[in-house]
Amino acid sequence: MSRFNTPISIETVAASKIDQVDFSNLAFGNIFSDHMLVCDFKNGAWEMPKIMPYQNISISPSARVFHYGQAIFEGMKAYKDQEGAAWLFRPEENFKRFNTSCVRMAMPEIREDYFFDGLQELLKLDQNWIKSGAGNSLYIRPFMIASEAGVSASPATEYKFMIICSPAQAYYGGQVRVKIAEKFSRAAPGGFGYAKAAGNYAGQFYPTKLAQEEGFQQLIWTDAKTHEYIEEAGVMNIFVRIGDTLITGPTSDSILDGVTRKSIIQIAEDQGYAIEVRPLKVQEILDAQKDGSLKEMFGAGTAAVVSPISGFGYQGETYELPSIENSYAMQFKKKLNDIQYNQAADPYGWRVAAW
Ligand SMILES: *Cc1c(COP(=O)(O)O)cnc(C)c1O
Repeated sequence: MSRFNTPISIETVAASKIDQVDFSNLAFGNIFSDHMLVCDFKNGAWEMPKIMPYQNISISPSARVFHYGQAIFEGMKAYKDQEGAAWLFRPEENFKRFNTSCVRMAMPEIREDYFFDGLQELLKLDQNWIKSGAGNSLYIRPFMIASEAGVSASPATEYKFMIICSPAQAYYGGQVRVKIAEKFSRAAPGGFGYAKAAGNYAGQFYPTKLAQEEGFQQLIWTDAKTHEYIEEAGVMNIFVRIGDTLITGPTSDSILDGVTRKSIIQIAEDQGYAIEVRPLKVQEILDAQKDGSLKEMFGAGTAAVVSPISGFGYQGETYELPSIENSYAMQFKKKLNDIQYNQAADPYGWRVAAW
């Protein structure tokens, strides 16, 4: 990773709490490592980053984040190989997307030197929280909130950038059943679906809850205007395999530019898979289901890498997908994991030493 020699104030924990953690039994995102990074934006500039013991923060009840949702985040992971070296996967992409999200939500962009030096120092301090072994990782959550007090409906002038880290295990989500959205939308043209904004998630909870009450785990989001085109699978990008062709929609205002998505596209292109990046109609999926050419659907994102879909509901009907040996989903999961865990050559330079 890039190094900029940023001065960082560091206060370490008196005693690590790592011995109290059962690493063989982790629920996603409930346990956090010993330290966190905090960086305040005031008077038009970012102040010196601070690393301190993970703890509650104090913030005015009138802070803009609570009222107008000026909040964005990223999701990335640190991996450890068998020799004990720690790695990140395409962290530059997360940094760039973080600032893309900042711009859209009228928030100040984080400095590259503070982001990367802060992250490196934090990971170095909490390196014992990155466990080696298949599927283990340290989930990294950089985020930014509008911390200025006052409920005037305008962008804040004070912000907090923070990074917290949570140990994660292999994600065996199993196969998910999804419902194709007919009424609700996640994002719209001209909106901010391409940003990793907190509000995008808040707006998804209710429609997803309704789908869950009908026995589905997730919604397949369709375009806001016509609901004829497939956009994303829950909070993941979506791939559909028809025959031996893999199809995913083009990124847009409403389709987020996922790092996993673009890595799969790149590998697919280089390794001779038939891959098409183009708008995909719900009707095409229904037709393919009917003539037997619909082979796979899967979500793609950092948390699970891929999440295979076993069936879907649409207009009151449910449809099952065939179970496939050596699925594309599992092939891409393995190819990505092998690069991430330093078990295969990385011709792309995606794998970067964590410090
Ligand atoms: C984070 C996210 C993704 C996946 O992005 P990755 O970079 O692959 O983790 C996809 N869709 C949405 C809406 C997201 O928020």
